Amino acid sequence: METPLAVVDTTPLIDHHCHGVLGGELDRAAFEARLTEAPVAAPGTSLFDTAVGFAVRRWCAPVLDLPAHASPDAYLERRAELGADEVNRRLIGAAGVEVFLVDAGLPGELVDPSAFGGRSLDVLRLERLAELVVGEGTAAGFPDRVRSALERSRSVAAKSIAAYRVGLDLDPARPSDAEVARAASRWSASGSGRCADPVLSRFLVWEALERGLPVQFHVGYGDSDLDLHRADPALLTPLLRAVQPLGVPVLLLHNYPFHRTAGYLAQVFPHVHADLGLATHGVGDRAAAVLAEALELVPFGKFLYSSDACALAELHHLGALLFRRGLSEVLRGKLTSGALSDEDALRITRMMSGGNARRVYRID
Ligand SMILES: [Zn+2]
Repeated sequence: METPLAVVDTTPLIDHHCHGVLGGELDRAAFEARLTEAPVAAPGTSLFDTAVGFAVRRWCAPVLDLPAHASPDAYLERRAELGADEVNRRLIGAAGVEVFLVDAGLPGELVDPSAFGGRSLDVLRLERLAELVVGEGTAAGFPDRVRSALERSRSVAAKSIAAYRVGLDLDPARPSDAEVARAASRWSASGSGRCADPVLSRFLVWEALERGLPVQFHVGYGDSDLDLHRADPALLTPLLRAVQPLGVPVLLLHNYPFHRTAGYLAQVFPHVHADLGLATHGVGDRAAAVLAEALELVPFGKFLYSSDACALAELHHLGALLFRRGLSEVLRGKLTSGALSDEDALRITRMMSGGNARRVYRID
């Protein structure tokens, strides 16, 4: 691969969807468990033998003063020697991200990435909000408790994990308060702590959008909790159509392997936007190819950068680095073929690196 175009390399990024990092030391099993969407490697194999595992050895090792392609054990030994704080500072600092939009609604102790560079803004996880307020009163009062929590929120966006909980084939109609109260009552009676009812998923999305809060949807690629065929963004079409008159942005996250479908939806619906999220580091050295596919149809003003990095600072680092290398390669191809002028390449870089996120989330 050639070096990134200078402008792509030096333009600060806005990471519009990510999570915190672990502050403690990690042994090999704990590191591998967070490297991909698999919790554990198959017996006799290593999760370092994946596209992202090779990318860690190629690109992160030199940030820790090791030669490129250092062995996994040498890498983890050096990581432990430097300590988590220094590793996080080096890897996140070198990512060149000026603003992180952080979904802090995951379980476990994670340190906000802005502790190591840049600043962060909060993204409100809708199912988590419902789980917090459901037990605070009656089922009949649940809709109002959600509304007042949304009114009090200082978050710049909301996030729905309906794909994980109920699938994206949601009825587009806005549910009535009576329907929502019945669903909350069923949920309370079930004894489950998890918000996993399609009526509640729809309600949360409608309420957030009606308050002008952009809504991010998890789409496609995720861990084995997810039924991938129910996380196809095409399933969301009726709901996207129904909420279009609100004119509030909807962001389709990750999307792989449906990134072309997401690009299509972003083209035909003015309020819909897309990214590649964790697929950028997940596919490692194929990032440029996948990014090229994601950009086939999507208007360039509707594609955003995100890492969806979680737990490992390596993923923050690789998300930014592989996005920049991928974008450079795509733009270089278009410049070489004469599809773009230098000025157009510069504008696209500014839009996708941060300008689109700044407009969508009203970041000043
Ligand atoms: Zn995420």
